[in-house]
Amino acid sequence: YAKKTGKNKYKVFTQLLRDDLNNHFTLENGLRKALEKNEFILYYQPQLHLETGSVIGVESLIRWNHPKKGLLSPVLFIPVAEENGLIVQIGYWVLDTACRQLTLWHEKGLSNITMGVNISPIQFRHKDFINHLEKILTDNKLDPKYLNLEITESVFMNIDESLFLLKKLKEIGVKISIDDFGTGYSSLSVLKDLPIDYLKIDKSFVDDLYSNEKNIVQPIIDMGNNLNLQLVAEGIECKEQLMILKEKKCHIGQGYYFCKPMDVNVTEAFIKNNLK
Ligand code: C2E
Ligand code: MG
Ligand code: MG
Ligand code: MG
Repeated sequence: YAKKTGKNKYKVFTQLLRDDLNNHFTLENGLRKALEKNEFILYYQPQLHLETGSVIGVESLIRWNHPKKGLLSPVLFIPVAEENGLIVQIGYWVLDTACRQLTLWHEKGLSNITMGVNISPIQFRHKDFINHLEKILTDNKLDPKYLNLEITESVFMNIDESLFLLKKLKEIGVKISIDDFGTGYSSLSVLKDLPIDYLKIDKSFVDDLYSNEKNIVQPIIDMGNNLNLQLVAEGIECKEQLMILKEKKCHIGQGYYFCKPMDVNVTEAFIKNNLK
């Protein structure tokens, strides 16, 4: 698995955090308490139409506002939540909170903004996922077409089950992105038959754009265009990357070059200033 080294690094961090927290309570208990005490918070990173610079949507990214440790990154606690199953409840909270915020923004006149929500493979495969999703859409009176679920290629390890779920999601009317595209296993023949809408080109390939002569961004873009998918570049950090991506006809991008993930108010101001 291409992300193995990264994952191991997270494991080390997670272990450190776990050891540290074990003095008082386990990380597991901490996460459970965090849900009860509402210590999770969503940050948002805008996604821009590269040609016009207009904001088309945001991706929601969870943080844990820990009473003692401050704002904790999802890479520290999502793997633990996936191990112990709490990801299902956390994921429900994320979906609900993101959809509520999106409806609020729509009501404030930011009408066509979309919301990306990261869905863990465990949450995706959970038996209640579709019911949860439908309830959240109804409760928040949200038109499903504005919700963009980000799943990773690992979901396609079990292709029959995934295809069934994806078709269900299509019927509901939400959009689907393949996150971190290019780092997993999915074969091109599988991709061809998937009812998906967006490919998110992994940051590692965007990093390479500027420095390396061997690069797979162009083939990914060409393939995406052939399959009628929208292309989103992740992790754009400098002007040179932006220029190359525009030239290669990548449609959408996000990254520190435009802005980091931000709290709800700063995000709202950014959207207002960057709608064309
Ligand atoms: P991801 O979905 O691929 O999100 C992109 C990550 O790259 C985010 O990290 C974002 O802050 C970071 N990023 C964006 N632009 C740049 C850039 O220009 N440079 C650099 N160096 N980084 C950039 P973050 O927020 O720490 O999230 C990490 C991962 O945690 C996410 O990767 C996603 O897999 C997971 N995650 C975040 N929120 C959720 C959630 O609500 N549910 C689930 N299941 N997973 C989540
Ligand atoms: Mg994502
Ligand atoms: Mg990603
Ligand atoms: Mg990523």
